[in-house]
Amino acid sequence: MKSHRKSEKLFKQAKAVMPGGVNSPVRAFKAVGGNPVFIAKGKGSKLYDVDGNSYIDYVLSWGPLILGHAHPKVVKALKAAVDKGTSYGAPTPLEIELANLVLKAYPSMDMVRMVNSGTEATMSAIRVARGFTKRDKIIKFEGCYHGHADGLLVKAGSGAMTFGVPDSPGVPESYAKNTITLPYNDIDALKAVIENAWREIACLIIEPVVGNIGCVLPKPGFLEAVRALTKKYGIVLIFDEVMTGFRVSYGGAQERYKIKPDMTCLGKVIGGGLPVGAYGGKKEIMSMVSPEGPVYQAGTLSGNPLAMTAGIETLKILSSKGTFKKIEKLSALLEKGLADAAKKAGVRTRFYRAGTMFCTYFTDREVYDYATAKTADTARFAKFFMGMLNRGVNIAPSQFEAGFMSLAHTENDIEKTAKAAYESLKKS
Ligand SMILES: *Cc1c(COP(=O)(O)O)cnc(C)c1O
Repeated sequence: MKSHRKSEKLFKQAKAVMPGGVNSPVRAFKAVGGNPVFIAKGKGSKLYDVDGNSYIDYVLSWGPLILGHAHPKVVKALKAAVDKGTSYGAPTPLEIELANLVLKAYPSMDMVRMVNSGTEATMSAIRVARGFTKRDKIIKFEGCYHGHADGLLVKAGSGAMTFGVPDSPGVPESYAKNTITLPYNDIDALKAVIENAWREIACLIIEPVVGNIGCVLPKPGFLEAVRALTKKYGIVLIFDEVMTGFRVSYGGAQERYKIKPDMTCLGKVIGGGLPVGAYGGKKEIMSMVSPEGPVYQAGTLSGNPLAMTAGIETLKILSSKGTFKKIEKLSALLEKGLADAAKKAGVRTRFYRAGTMFCTYFTDREVYDYATAKTADTARFAKFFMGMLNRGVNIAPSQFEAGFMSLAHTENDIEKTAKAAYESLKKS
């Protein structure tokens, strides 16, 4: 067992001054028990905690660090940028450069607006879609997370269609009732709702691969049906690619599955580890955004030079020849290693992967939506998680989170991970 003495002491201090001791809930390890590990530094594929333990990291700041921690070129560019000042509240050439890198990779987008988080991106995109269509309701899918804006913190009960009940106290029912929640991968349920209520529906927002209940892939034909139905009824289709963007392929899920949404939300990877989000889409829709149009959206630090620099440097490296393929290959290698480990240990798991994001579910059922993801044995996962942590492998502290690969991971890292997985599974 590794010692976590310093982390335990810090967690006590943290809990006295921050709710749950953290600034984002999953970090508190509630889903797996135990105390969170406090980090001293990250380098390449590894994290180092305050007690001197190291971990091969598959959380990667929850997705953004596709080049690994502290990539030398990103660090160098950031250091140079800091010397020039951290924010001006005025336009810079850097914003045009990152916008062009994004638009080139996402041809469905004619224009883009930078914000500071994925939450801001989805919240703003929905406002624009409502302004554009002059309709109020939105469709989302059960288990899809689109940040913590009020109207998006709504999931469904079971059944084909649920008019929203808020998930969280503090979200007025009057907000939530404009959110229609449907089961993912269910074309019939979607068709029934749209044919009945399309006159009121401004937009449909979807994670084209669901990363926030693990890694749930769209069934063949599902995204195509989503696209066809929204197009037919004038509903703005928003792909929330905050996680999948530059992750399931360089051009995101829209490139991988060849679907053109009307709007796209990005975040995570495009900030290279700094706080960034972005939303964009067709020119006729984005022309609604202030100051070109009447829909207001603003940000004191939006497009700031540090975040733009980290994003530009990250995308430049990621788009260089063979780089994305290499990360995908490493992901496939890990997939094989984990599958072999589970088989050898005699544990039934289901593994899903899209490009460089993936999830192992502790279930023998096929996982294709929220309800089937929930069949996973979370107690078993918690033991696995602790087993991996104690063997120097950091995976997300919840069964319902995706894992991520980076350019910095090595075949040796993956061998070690597979060995740790076998040992953890055998014991758990
Ligand atoms: C992470 C995430 C968000 C929220 O982004 P934040 O930067 O945490 O606000 C929104 N949508 C998806 C799909 C995400 O994975």
